[in-house]
Amino acid sequence: MLNTMADDLHILFLPFLSPGHIIPMVDLARLFAGKGIKATVVITTGNVPLVKPTVDLANTDASLRHPIQLLALRLPCSEAGIPEGYENLAAFPNPDDLFRFVAATDRLEPSFSLLLKTHRPDCVVVDFFYPWATRVAQEASVPSLLFSGSNFFSSAVIKILQVGELIQGDLETERLIEVPGLPQKIHLKLSNLPDTVLHPKEFSHRMAESLHRIHGTVVNSFYELERDYVDRAPNLRDLRFWFVGPVSLQNRGMDTKMVRGSGDAASGSADHFLSWLETKRPRSVLYVCFGSMARFTATQLREIARGLEASDRPFIWVVRNAGEISEWQPEGFENRVVGGGKGMLVQGWAPQLLILNHEAVGGFVTHCGWNSCLEAIAAGVPVITWPLFAEQFLNEKLLVDVHRMGISIGVISNCDKAEERTVVNGEQLKEAVDELMGSGEEAEERRKRARELGQTARRAMEEGGSSQEAMTCLIDELIRLKTVGLMCRENEDEVK
Ligand code: UDP
Repeated sequence: MLNTMADDLHILFLPFLSPGHIIPMVDLARLFAGKGIKATVVITTGNVPLVKPTVDLANTDASLRHPIQLLALRLPCSEAGIPEGYENLAAFPNPDDLFRFVAATDRLEPSFSLLLKTHRPDCVVVDFFYPWATRVAQEASVPSLLFSGSNFFSSAVIKILQVGELIQGDLETERLIEVPGLPQKIHLKLSNLPDTVLHPKEFSHRMAESLHRIHGTVVNSFYELERDYVDRAPNLRDLRFWFVGPVSLQNRGMDTKMVRGSGDAASGSADHFLSWLETKRPRSVLYVCFGSMARFTATQLREIARGLEASDRPFIWVVRNAGEISEWQPEGFENRVVGGGKGMLVQGWAPQLLILNHEAVGGFVTHCGWNSCLEAIAAGVPVITWPLFAEQFLNEKLLVDVHRMGISIGVISNCDKAEERTVVNGEQLKEAVDELMGSGEEAEERRKRARELGQTARRAMEEGGSSQEAMTCLIDELIRLKTVGLMCRENEDEVK
């Protein structure tokens, strides 16, 4: 009699090599480890220093039955024509480098295949950006789950547009269209969509094809957030989804001073942020951060600085990849604003979870990367949405049009090149900040909705909540798959 338990399961987690993919995948591994499952995160050697502190910290949790393991593969950089040691997409300044980097990560296939043969896990959770991984898993008879790093809503909208043949032929990218068949009215321009959707290249086809080999998708979201869409999306119903997030809530009760996924920890200690935030009134501080990848021109940075100064509210602004401050900051900005204690300029990496969850923070200017969106939702903080590229414009729709917890800054074109974007001027930013942080009725209502959504998110992750229930169902399914596999092998042995 076979009696498989969660304890007997071993799952490998294979994140794509950028902070926005590594961070939630490590949180996901922790979520599974918390359920008694043996979790192993597979990363490349160069990314170990980013991941190890988070894993070490997670492993201090005495309730874990198996500590999370870290396995490192060698990324063959020079063979793939990228500089040795450049093992994280965030290190590449040019958006065109994405496909060069993807070509390098494609070369992980043989070593991952070997790893599967050596470790024989019961399941692999693979990133959407590794279409080859599901094939390798299938060849090794290991079930694979996809971790898209995004939400259900954006995939549903894209699918609806594709099925309805709205993305075809001569694209009128600037025409406003209503997405058919959705409970809320969602209007968008095709220019909002990622280029990979409008003009799919070989890689997009490979990603789509890999969906045929997966057992289902693990979504970093929670059912209540996307309920209206889950049951209505055409052609997605035959796939299986488990909504298990927000996975960042895994860090509740842990030391959130930990700067997760940081490549450059030198951005000042968490205590520094905390003591600054402690001096501010509740909900008075604006947090401004555009994730790990975004870059801006000097002109745009200057406009952000002008807007923040004019809005006259305390802020923490994370400025990554911005070169010399003197090249873009308005004259005297540093003395007047930063020196005057009004604003904090973080050149590098900030402890985002810690900041968003501090009671002094009342608003977040975000580029709408999915992790940032969900972290804002979980913290109950309303947002100003400033999407830049990828599926960020669809995430904006979810926050602004569906859940009405945000204000759009008004960017309309999806563009990954900083130089080609229309500049948002300081006045536009100030106007949005005044609206978001002000005391009017609409602002209060928006704050209330954000707060309530945050409570729903936290409930989903608690015992009996929807995400916890989904985890239980998923683990039961993995136990079933393992049991069936073992029984088949027993039968084969008997026949022999
Ligand atoms: N992040 C952070 N500090 C920073 C910038 C980003 O901790 O200074 C984290 C953020 O909390 C989120 C992730 O990095 O978990 C960024 O992911 P997201 O999907 O928001 O954007 P991406 O970087 O992929 O564009």
